[in-house]
Amino acid sequence: MRKILIVGAGQSGLLLALGLQSAGYSVTLISNRTADEIRDGNILSTQCLFGASLSHEQNQGLDFWSEVAPKITGIGVSLDGGQGGRAVNWVGSLNRAAQSVDQRLKMSQWLSLFAERGGNVVIREVTREILCKFARDYDLTLVASGRGELSTLFRRDETRSRFSTAQRSLAAAYVHGMTPSADDTLEAVRCNLIPGVGELFVMPCHTHTGSCGILLWEAVPGGTLDSFSKNITASQHLQHTLALMKRFTPWEYDRSKNVQLTDANATLTGSITPAVRQPVAEIESGLFVSAIADAAVTNDPITGQGANNAVKCAQVYLEAIIRQGDKDFDAEFMQCTFERYWGVVASSVKWTNAMLTPPPAHVSELLLAANDETRIADRFANSFDNPSDLENWFFDPVKFHQYLRSL
Ligand SMILES: Cc1cc2nc3c(=O)[nH]c(=O)nc-3n(C[C@H](O)[C@H](O)[C@H](O)COP(=O)(O)OP(=O)(O)OC[C@H]3O[C@@H](n4cnc5c(N)ncnc54)[C@H](O)[C@@H]3O)c2cc1C
Repeated sequence: MRKILIVGAGQSGLLLALGLQSAGYSVTLISNRTADEIRDGNILSTQCLFGASLSHEQNQGLDFWSEVAPKITGIGVSLDGGQGGRAVNWVGSLNRAAQSVDQRLKMSQWLSLFAERGGNVVIREVTREILCKFARDYDLTLVASGRGELSTLFRRDETRSRFSTAQRSLAAAYVHGMTPSADDTLEAVRCNLIPGVGELFVMPCHTHTGSCGILLWEAVPGGTLDSFSKNITASQHLQHTLALMKRFTPWEYDRSKNVQLTDANATLTGSITPAVRQPVAEIESGLFVSAIADAAVTNDPITGQGANNAVKCAQVYLEAIIRQGDKDFDAEFMQCTFERYWGVVASSVKWTNAMLTPPPAHVSELLLAANDETRIADRFANSFDNPSDLENWFFDPVKFHQYLRSL
């Protein structure tokens, strides 16, 4: 039986471990936290998964939450128009519902399931030395440790990495008690754009205590929103979130003013430096390991693509490993498999990076035009599920104007 080692019990590592286990591989998963520690720990993400990603999880029989999680049926966009008003306000419909399930729930349940099905789980923090020690005994070692320290084993690919610093400071809170807005149902991801300052994302989610709302500030570094101190309590975090909402997005504040945190660990602050890394590292002579998902390609969450890409990554690697049969998992296999994955996610990376910079004129035009033309709103919404469609109409002003004329 072929032996696979996966480091990291997150979205990609667990999905791939469970897939390989079902396909008859001997899989060892190393996690720096137990299932209980993940479940009882801090929130990790806003983790909105779109149709294609949900299908992969469903096909593996691993979507245990579709009956209880809110069905997210649209993407809303609002643009601050000054003096408490909105210059843009529309909701595009998703062809397939999206879903956000608290990663604390999902990852802890999947990790327990992997162990129950006979998977080998090792709990420890992996360093380079430990990785060398383990990797020698396996046919293939995959590093799925997310954007943590271990990813620095893999050199940044400067040709594919657009930024060398974080472009947003992040502050998220999970809350109970939101009400639907006057012009919208509760079941949309609302993207509130505040030019020059940042964004507020509001979305429904399923957590330990049932349905909740997520409030995520994406602050331009050094700007007014970039004001969450690392030392504040969870309740101070929420109060500050609400104060900023009252000032910058009063329409979202109106439906949030009576919220409470879902639990004591329901806040998160931080920042992410977007990066694409070389996917293969030789950690000692002749011993190669491969980075997958965020460890290889890290995005800012502004477009909600990271977890979706992690799912797609697990799928690409599952298929490639099975297709490889008895052949060696050598550096060439690792590089080729990564290139296949890059082909799947390159448009989402390009889009995410584009959304971190002030919009070009045709994108501002698009946001306004979608106020009156639902086909534009719907196409934009469905790009979250299929970002490669953006190549056909969004990035290039000429293609965008051709599309506008075709409506
Ligand atoms: C605020 C925020 C909001 C987000 N919102 C969305 C969204 O709406 N939609 C979306 O698609 N994506 C979103 N993302 C991104 C998404 O959460 C990640 O891209 C995704 O979880 C990456 O999956 P992964 O498997 O690569 O890594 P992770 O899910 O991060 O898992 C890595 C695992 O490895 C473990 N680990 C790390 N280092 C070690 C070590 N040395 N030894 C052992 N174990 C280790 C970690 O504890 C963790 O369990 C968001 C991210 C943030 C921060």
